[in-house]
Amino acid sequence: MTADTITAADIRINARWLIPVQPFGVVWEHQAVILQGSQIAAVLPQAKADQTYRARETIDLNNHVVLPGLINLHGHTAMSLFRGMADDLPLMTWLNDHIWPAEGKFVSEQFVLDGSRLAMAEMLRTGTTTFSDMYFFPEITAQAAHDVGMRAQVCFPLIDMPTVWGSGPDEYLRKGAALIEQWRNDNFIMPAIGPHAPYTISDQPLRSAVALSAQTGAAIQLHLHETAFEVEDAIKNSGKRPLARMAELGVLGSNTQCVHMTQIDASDIEQLASSGAHIVHCPESNLKLASGLCPVQQLIDGGINVTIGTDGAASNNDLDLFGELKTAAMIAKVVAGDAAALSAHRALEMATMNGARALGRDHELGSLVAGKLADLIAVDLSDPYLQPVYDPASHLVYSNHGRAVSHSWIHGVPQLQDGRLTRIDVPDLMLRVSDWHKQIIS
Ligand SMILES: [Zn+2]
Repeated sequence: MTADTITAADIRINARWLIPVQPFGVVWEHQAVILQGSQIAAVLPQAKADQTYRARETIDLNNHVVLPGLINLHGHTAMSLFRGMADDLPLMTWLNDHIWPAEGKFVSEQFVLDGSRLAMAEMLRTGTTTFSDMYFFPEITAQAAHDVGMRAQVCFPLIDMPTVWGSGPDEYLRKGAALIEQWRNDNFIMPAIGPHAPYTISDQPLRSAVALSAQTGAAIQLHLHETAFEVEDAIKNSGKRPLARMAELGVLGSNTQCVHMTQIDASDIEQLASSGAHIVHCPESNLKLASGLCPVQQLIDGGINVTIGTDGAASNNDLDLFGELKTAAMIAKVVAGDAAALSAHRALEMATMNGARALGRDHELGSLVAGKLADLIAVDLSDPYLQPVYDPASHLVYSNHGRAVSHSWIHGVPQLQDGRLTRIDVPDLMLRVSDWHKQIIS
C-alpha cells in the first residue's frame, strides 16, 4: 500500500452495525462511514477503510447501530408549547374549545420561534434530521431551522378563516408565494403549500394552491380523511368524498402529501395510486384523537408511497419518531390481521427513503449510500432495555425509544454528540419555555 492510494477524509464513523436502508433489509457489521464535507464519500468494511482512507477525525461507535437520519413528514412544531395542555378530547372539541382559542391568544412570532426550537431540540435528540412543519409564521420556522441546520419542509397555512398570520386566503397565498420565492433553491429549507383540510377551505383557494405548486414546484401537504365524520359530512353536503373533490380540483399529484387518510375505500386506493400522491401516516395522533386507523399495509400493497409523521406535540404528545414507528408497526398488523404486515425494515424505510421520496429528494436523502448527503444518526444499544442484540432492526422498531439516539449529523455537521445537542442552547431554551408555560396557565 503506497501513500498515494490513501484518500484524506473529514470524518470516519466506525459502526458496530449499520442499516443503510438501500439495499433494503440488510444489517451490516463493522462498517465505516466516510464523510467528506456535506456528503457520504463511502460506506465500506472497517478493514477496507483502514487501507483506503485517513480521516481528520474518527468516531468509534462500538455498541451502536448507524442509520439514515429520520424524516418526520408531518407536524406543527410550535405547538410543542401546548404539549399536555388539553388531552382526552375528540378532534373537533379539542380544536374548537382548546387549541384554536389558545392559538388566538398566544401565537406570535416569538411563540413560533421558541416553540419551533423546542420541537427541534426534541426531534434532534430522538433521531430526526428532516421534518415537515405546517403552522403560522412559517417564515420564522424556516429561518429557525436554517439557523440550527436542520432540513425542513415548511408548509405555509392556507385556510378560509382569518388567523394571527393573515386576513384570509388571498393574504396567505401572497405571503406564501414570498416564502417560496425566498427559499426555493435552498438545500435545507423546502417551502411548501399547506391547505389545512377540505372542510376548512373552499375551492377557489385550492385552485390557486394548485397553480402556485405547478408554477414553483412547491409541494402541497394537507390533512385529508382524518376522521369518519369529515368524510360523512362531505358526502352529506356535496355528494362527494373529500379525496374525490381534491382530485377534481387538481390537488392530487406526485407532489402532494395526504396526511392521516384513516378512512379509505377501494375508490380512494385507486385514486391515490393513479395520482402518485404520498400518504403521511400519523398513528399516535389518530389513536389519541380517536380519529381512526390508516390501513398502511393495504396502501403499500396498492403501490402507494407511505411515510410517517408525529403530528404536533399537542396531539401525540411527543415527537419521538422511533416511538411512532413501533405504534405504526403494531397497528398495521392488527388492521391487516397479519403479524407479518409492516415489518421492522419496512417501518424503517417508511421513516427514511419513503419520506425522502415524498419530498422529491430520494436521490440525495433517505439511505446511506456514497454520494448522498451526510444526514445520519447512531443509536446506542448498550442499555439493558436493548440487550441482548439478535437483530438491531428489530430493536430499533420494537424495543427502542428515541432517547437511545446518541449521535447525529446533518449535511456532515454534528448535531448530537453523545446525547448532547451542539447547535441549540438548551438551558436558554428551557428558560423561554418556562416563561411561555407561566403565561399560558395564568
Ligand atoms: Zn396535523
